[in-house]
Amino acid sequence: MTLAQIGVTGLSVMGRNLARNFARNGFSVAVHNRSASKMESLIDEHGSEGTFVGCASLEDFVAALERPRKIIIMVQAGDATDAVIDALVPLVDQGDIIVDAGNAHFPDTRRREAALRDKGIHFVGTGVSGGEEGALLGPSIMPGGPAESYAALGPMLEKISAHVDGVPCCTHVGPDGAGHFVKMVHNGIEYADMQLIGEAYALLRAGLHLSPKEIGDILAEWNKGDLESYLIEITAEVLKQTDAKTGKPLVDVILDEAGQKGTGRWTVQSALDLGVPVTGIAEATFARAISSQTAQREAGRDVLASAAGDFHIGNREGFIEDVRVALYASKVVAYAQGFDQIQAASEQYGWHIDRGAMARIWRGGCIIRARFLNRITEAYERNPELPSLLVDPYFTDIVADGLSGWRRVVSQAALAGIPAPAFSSSLAYYDSLRSERLPAALIQGQRDFFGAHTYKRVDREGTFHTLWSGDR
Ligand code: NAP
Repeated sequence: MTLAQIGVTGLSVMGRNLARNFARNGFSVAVHNRSASKMESLIDEHGSEGTFVGCASLEDFVAALERPRKIIIMVQAGDATDAVIDALVPLVDQGDIIVDAGNAHFPDTRRREAALRDKGIHFVGTGVSGGEEGALLGPSIMPGGPAESYAALGPMLEKISAHVDGVPCCTHVGPDGAGHFVKMVHNGIEYADMQLIGEAYALLRAGLHLSPKEIGDILAEWNKGDLESYLIEITAEVLKQTDAKTGKPLVDVILDEAGQKGTGRWTVQSALDLGVPVTGIAEATFARAISSQTAQREAGRDVLASAAGDFHIGNREGFIEDVRVALYASKVVAYAQGFDQIQAASEQYGWHIDRGAMARIWRGGCIIRARFLNRITEAYERNPELPSLLVDPYFTDIVADGLSGWRRVVSQAALAGIPAPAFSSSLAYYDSLRSERLPAALIQGQRDFFGAHTYKRVDREGTFHTLWSGDR
């Protein structure tokens, strides 16, 4: 019997499309699913796309693979992944590679990798971005795990990944949980990107009283320049959509409560643990939470004062341009913060992640794919140790050029009473980085006053405490 080159277990939307992608790229694929019907329907409907080996049991599936075996698990994250790993371990041999391509939380991946390493099995936690369509046509793939496993697995993953300018959107991210960590931050950045576009929309809608379709046209125009990205492109489409039932813009009949599956929350939790301010991602995550606080919103809607009104747009085209530059600058901040988080985790866990390479593999196949990512890769090529994306000369200049517009938009949003939490917190972050002195000195004084926490001085080495003369 000819053995299959790769196996996929878990054939719901993602696994099914990933298996088809391997087959369409000329790899023979063993396919398995807990309930056999998904495996059978895959072969019935798509068997002609390549070489599939349908396996009804996990034993048959493992036996159908050439060595070292390369097994991709694409099941629900969490307990289901552990259950499949536990079932596979007695069936595989040392040197085999088990890949978890689901949306695992990186501490789980670290735990699983350590446990399998002890048994001589390579465990690769890999981020896969791009949803159903990406899995079929070419996703962005972020594999972690041992470097030696990438030698066997990497070329296959690279072949099925998206390609931009002939370069695969897949590279070895780093050991153990690095792949799933980078995928998590990718999703956090996606939250920020979406929120920023949402705020731009809200400002144009409330500020200029433009219709969703008109705003869709503006976004389509922006998509021809620096802001070119998948998210801007699809937002323009969403805004132009009319509801067949009411004839209204579809966006006006969609309930304004944003859902979330948890990767934004994980990103913020991890950032708090690492002490990295990811304010753009945090504001975006909290903005979704506020949107779903139905009770508070209902209670506040009619009673909270606005005092808004002193809102001078100036000329229409000027305001649109201000919103565009505010969006771009805030986006640079969100990415700068996300890359800081990747760097902090890389140092904490010894992952040696190449940040420029991460921007390169996000250029295609994934939700945050954008022209702008080329600029990030170039920035890290110029200086791999860059302390912040914002201080790369390209980004320093582009943000400086738009700074007045950014400030106008944030102040006008406040004057008009239009919530723009990600725009304004990004500007506050930018101003914090450029401030000569922060009020942190005063906070140190307060801490020393009530808790004798001590402080350091600007003019002398050492740790100091003051006998404060407060009335205590
Ligand atoms: P899913 O709905 O998350 O999971 C369904 C699959 O898991 C089915 O094949 C199911 O088998 C299997 N499964 C559940 N519990 C199991 C258990 N205890 N033992 C064995 N198999 C079990 O599928 P999905 O949407 O294709 O996503 C797969 C993974 O990719 C998830 O981790 C998801 O977070 C991640 N992901 C999804 C997307 C997306 O756009 N959907 C994008 C990126 C990443 P049965 O058919 O027998 O029930």
